[in-house]
Amino acid sequence: MTLPIGGIVPFSAIDYPGCFSLVVFCQGCPWRCHYCHNPHLQPFVRKRASKKSGLWQDALALLKRRRGLLDAVVFSGGEPTAHAGLLPAIREVKELGFKIGLHTAGCYPDRLLQLIGYLDWVGLDIKAPFDAYEKITDRPQSGDKAKKSAEMILKSGVSYEFRTTVHPALLFSSDLDNVKLALREMGVKNHVLQEFRKEGCQNQKLCR
Ligand code: SF4
Repeated sequence: MTLPIGGIVPFSAIDYPGCFSLVVFCQGCPWRCHYCHNPHLQPFVRKRASKKSGLWQDALALLKRRRGLLDAVVFSGGEPTAHAGLLPAIREVKELGFKIGLHTAGCYPDRLLQLIGYLDWVGLDIKAPFDAYEKITDRPQSGDKAKKSAEMILKSGVSYEFRTTVHPALLFSSDLDNVKLALREMGVKNHVLQEFRKEGCQNQKLCR
């Protein structure tokens, strides 16, 4: 089972709190967030992914050479949980002795359930109040999926950070209040706000 990979960052000090990590950017995401700064990773482009299938073997070889220098592998995207190949990839990395981090928007709660026991840390995007997700993701019922994923992460006891990207044209202060209230009621202890970044975003109105 393959994991379509759009790119690899061999060293990062910012993608897993307190750890040095290698970051694997998975290709493909079902949502279309207006502020996405990795739009090239949105399409499920099988041709391109198959051309890059050697990247996974390269990453494993790099990890073997960097034992003791790297602590963790972070699967990011795109949306890593879109792929059945994620679990076997995680198992391979675990066998090498590295921690596993996951960046996800929570699009696939059923697959997250299969993975969660293998994860050491999860960064989950909370994009909006759960009943208003569509205005960010452009996809119906996306808030239901994100909420289910958030509940699962909390129930599992895995370390996590929930984060909300703020752009004043997309999220009003009342939206932010609603997000904070919903998360507080769920018992979330680690929620951060992050400013919209222009880099990579193709929505010119938001960039202005
Ligand atoms: S969920 Fe993430 S990768 Fe997918 S469109 Fe939204 S910001 Fe981009």
